[in-house]
Amino acid sequence: MIPFNKPPVIGTEIDYISKALSSNKLCGDGAFGKSCQNWFESKLGCFKALMVPSCTHALELAALLIDLQPGDEVIMPSYTFVSTANPFVLRGAKIIFVDIEPDTMNIDVSKIENAITTKTKAIVPVHYAGVSCDMDSLMSIANQYGLIVIEDAAQGMLSTYKNRHLGTIGHLAAFSFHETKNYTSGGEGGLILINDSRFIERAEIIREKGTNRSQFFRGMVDKYSWVDIGSSYLPSEIQSAYLQAQLDSSEVIFKRRMAIWNRYYDALTAKAGDNGWNLPVIPENVTHNAHMFYIKCRDIDERERFIGHLKHNGIIAVFHYIPLHSAKAGRLFSKFSGLDEHTTKESERLVRLPLFFNMTDDEVEHVISTVTNFN
Ligand SMILES: *Cc1c(COP(=O)(O)O)cnc(C)c1O
Repeated sequence: MIPFNKPPVIGTEIDYISKALSSNKLCGDGAFGKSCQNWFESKLGCFKALMVPSCTHALELAALLIDLQPGDEVIMPSYTFVSTANPFVLRGAKIIFVDIEPDTMNIDVSKIENAITTKTKAIVPVHYAGVSCDMDSLMSIANQYGLIVIEDAAQGMLSTYKNRHLGTIGHLAAFSFHETKNYTSGGEGGLILINDSRFIERAEIIREKGTNRSQFFRGMVDKYSWVDIGSSYLPSEIQSAYLQAQLDSSEVIFKRRMAIWNRYYDALTAKAGDNGWNLPVIPENVTHNAHMFYIKCRDIDERERFIGHLKHNGIIAVFHYIPLHSAKAGRLFSKFSGLDEHTTKESERLVRLPLFFNMTDDEVEHVISTVTNFN
């Protein structure tokens, strides 16, 4: 069986973890936690990068930082993971969903303005498959209405929009190091980027249980105490050590994923044309990170047959999000603004092929020939 995903393993992780074990400090913000943060700050170009236990936690921290009040509204696509919405629902906000564009599966920025009310506080674009949203238009709407932009860049590590890294364009951004993402910190993990300096000090406080412990360590105060609300949003050194090993080989991981993605694209373009399928679309001025390779079948029935055909041939391919507005909790906490022209229709067509760093060429070719044999 070719699984849909295997967690990436570069081989040096165990050495990095051994080093962490011998450092006598395993809690957060040790040597590896700091080196990961420095890596992101210099590589991506942001004011502040803070390691957190998951992308979900990064978004919770963001929701606390922007001081959401019950009844405030947050705009996002419905075609996303539950963690894009939950952190804002936890603050009492109402989620306003906007339709997606069919080509990228990203929020249709031209439909955002209609969804804005006097209660709107933030927009959360999701860079699906590591392919950027139309960020210039989105930022200009946000600036015009004084809204905060929190990028859900969970899938977008090392992708760019007009030569800027995803996650450095909005005021705040969240990344995931879950084992299904391009780089992992040992199964679970995340990162928040802060691109607006007014949020830095409070982010450090909320992340450290509401204390000014970070300032204490920097010698800025002579003791630390409880100064604000907060929680514990620090991952352990073991997680950061695992991630640092992958960051030190980030090019190797990136290139291997890209080679698989390009091989799929080249080998399946003709078949897709014959069958009336769609393959991923990468807009101009955007570079992606080969996070995901998907096919959009003609409809949900064909997709079911297609997934069955792959499974019969030893390949696990999976569909993706059930639009949040149609889920049980979605109906309680959200509203769909305007028409659902594309969200449901396109989500029912989409199926993801196996794509992971440690995938062999034989496995890739077996997937390609099996897809090509489908009729
Ligand atoms: C993976 C993912 C998340 C959640 O990431 P965790 O690290 O598991 O919390 C959130 N949003 C999107 C778009 C994702 O793909």
